[in-house]
Amino acid sequence: MSDSKDTQTGAASVRLHQPSPLAAEIAAGPSDEPSPLVSHLSSSAEGMAQSSQHSIQAERDYAAAQRNEAREDADELHQFRMLALERQKATGGFAGAGAQAGPSQATGGAFEPFVGSRVGSPIPDKNGLGWPGKGTLARLNATPEERQAREQKLADAVKVLLECIGEDPERDGLIKTPERYAKALLWMTKGYEERLPDVIGNAIFAEDHEEMVIVRDIDIFSLCEHHMVPFAGKVSIGYIPNKFVLGLSKLARIAETFSRRLQVQERLTKQIATAIDEAIRPMGVAVVIEATHQCMTMRGVQKPGAATITSSMLGAFRRSDKTRAEFMSLIRSSQR
Ligand SMILES: [Zn+2]
Repeated sequence: MSDSKDTQTGAASVRLHQPSPLAAEIAAGPSDEPSPLVSHLSSSAEGMAQSSQHSIQAERDYAAAQRNEAREDADELHQFRMLALERQKATGGFAGAGAQAGPSQATGGAFEPFVGSRVGSPIPDKNGLGWPGKGTLARLNATPEERQAREQKLADAVKVLLECIGEDPERDGLIKTPERYAKALLWMTKGYEERLPDVIGNAIFAEDHEEMVIVRDIDIFSLCEHHMVPFAGKVSIGYIPNKFVLGLSKLARIAETFSRRLQVQERLTKQIATAIDEAIRPMGVAVVIEATHQCMTMRGVQKPGAATITSSMLGAFRRSDKTRAEFMSLIRSSQR
């Protein structure tokens, strides 16, 4: 997260009538530059230029599709924020906003709080955040027939799996297992079918509240991407609003969406933080996850009870030891 150096503070920098920096960045983005993969392909295989032509094109198409999705998502989130402001204005004003936003009042009051903690959106795959991946886009946009074909293919694979472990997939107890497992696995990875703007809906509210908001001990269940076995634990999320708050249940929904994918705990932690950052542009976001990995506890080193703790701190939580300490003490305090 070396790229999350703060160059601006939330209070000091107010942006006027502009789409999110993410959208702008993506729009302006690396569209003309080949991806590292493409560069690699072209430089390492001059003589094979012909044969890699196809994969280069495929790579470009994929990158373009991905940028499109990300841009749409960012635009949608921006619209939710603008909508929240309008709702707020319609229902009797937003006292603090004009006063604090300064110049934006002169230009009609529309503003977009901005915090310099952007570490890249969880939406594009730029930082290896893993979504949307090639297969993910296909799954997200699948027709009902394609979904059915996908489930069947998965069930067939499970049958092979059963054979490989020395079982008889035709015996009574197992006869329905491939279909069951296929359904279960698709369910356990349903986060691939959820887009951030859909998860958040319009549960973004303009609110003049600048104190820390914390929801702690949200249960999460995920699958480690190295072994595809579960890891489970609790996530605590805090943020400091900057003109916008999120419906509280949405914090849990965001955690759910990202945990229902193949994950490493570090990335999950960061994705939750960046998703909140992207949605409401707060002064800062803090996410701490404590989880137990079954790849550690029921196989391999077999250390039952060993917990892995990861954290992601953005904006004020990264900048200020005091803010971070306050968050940490609040999530640890009493009755756990
Ligand atoms: Zn693992």
